[in-house]
Amino acid sequence: MALKDVERLAKEHTFDDLKWISGNDVVVKQWVRFSCELKCSTYGTKPICPPHVPSIPECERFFEEYDHIMIIRIHKKAHHRDDDKTVFKALDENIMALEKRLFFEGYYKVMALPATICTRCEVCGITPESCNHMALARPTPEALGVDVFETVRRIGYPIDVLRDYNQTMNRYVFMLVA
Ligand code: SF4
Repeated sequence: MALKDVERLAKEHTFDDLKWISGNDVVVKQWVRFSCELKCSTYGTKPICPPHVPSIPECERFFEEYDHIMIIRIHKKAHHRDDDKTVFKALDENIMALEKRLFFEGYYKVMALPATICTRCEVCGITPESCNHMALARPTPEALGVDVFETVRRIGYPIDVLRDYNQTMNRYVFMLVA
């Protein structure tokens, strides 16, 4: 299957704002991990967030193994972080449906990195051993050390720190395809 056919499938799942990069174009930085550890209120409370994820050098090696990564832009009106579950539930299910479809098309290494942390369960299991749906839970790019701002700006996509809820937020799904 050619990349244009992958794009066609993505568009069938309503993802029509996308660009391709390679794994070498993904900017992975230690500061992102430190932000998780030192600034994020959910640090240590999700099975697919630090500290339950690979080291930064391992993350770098992981991305380098992919020649094709589809960056999917999601733009919506800004909302409070507490409303992520409501806003992103259907979107996340759609992302995972696309990942599954690509897997059965022969892309056996496909992996989706969603635009927000997993909110599948009412009460999160907190550790990988206690995750209720480990087969469906995926880390965000940030959880794997990706500087999303730098990565998407290099390919001309917009992303900004938002100052009020009237602004439009730009979030990005990374679909690793191989
Ligand atoms: S599937 Fe449930 S338990 Fe696992 S990370 Fe998501 S919310 Fe937490």
